[in-house]
Amino acid sequence: MPRMRFRIILLGPPGSGKGTQAEKLNDDLGLIRLSTGDMLREAVRDKTELGIIAKEYMDKGALVPDDIVIGLMKEKITSLKEGFVLDGFPRTVQQADALSEFVDIDHVINLDVDDEELVGRMSNRRSCPECNVVYHLLYKPPMEDGLCDKCGSALYHRSDDSEETVRNRLKVYRESTFPLIEYYSKKSKLVNVDGKGDINQIYKSIEDAL
Ligand code: AMP
Repeated sequence: MPRMRFRIILLGPPGSGKGTQAEKLNDDLGLIRLSTGDMLREAVRDKTELGIIAKEYMDKGALVPDDIVIGLMKEKITSLKEGFVLDGFPRTVQQADALSEFVDIDHVINLDVDDEELVGRMSNRRSCPECNVVYHLLYKPPMEDGLCDKCGSALYHRSDDSEETVRNRLKVYRESTFPLIEYYSKKSKLVNVDGKGDINQIYKSIEDAL
């Protein structure tokens, strides 16, 4: 299969670098990045019906109900002809089961990072509201303070990146998403990648796994 047609899931706790690595897979291999978090935040900003419902869950660091997220992703994925990388989906076994009914996934990459590192990363994270590029004030700062390198928009600190919400998101991750490691491991699809350290080195490990 040509590399451009890869269908990849990036698994890992919040703050593990899924967004950053998905963006590199997009730049490098042209894979379409599908981030449920970005789609939901856009719906919240636009105050759509979906956004109004999703906001309640997202503000607490809870998961948006499976049926909503599955419906959203099914529509996106089944309309795609190109390869893609899923960032933040699936997050529950129910979502993974639903996904398997409408697409075959080639690779599942699990980014492994410990909790203390994750909390530190999210407090230093800044995001672009327009093109969704993610920065880190220390490890990946924008070229110009507070502005996106790609589109020049003002960067913002996600409201759910506050320490209290982050702790809850990590708890939710352990309860609902962590079981997917075994789920995909049993299907012989999973590759573990050390998500700590240099962004380019981590990307190299992902490339080697494909
Ligand atoms: P993220 O940008 O991936 O960290 O997601 C931000 C928030 O969006 C999460 O804390 C959830 O509230 C919601 N969310 C994103 N993806 C999913 C998903 N697959 N299932 C349920 N909720 C999700």
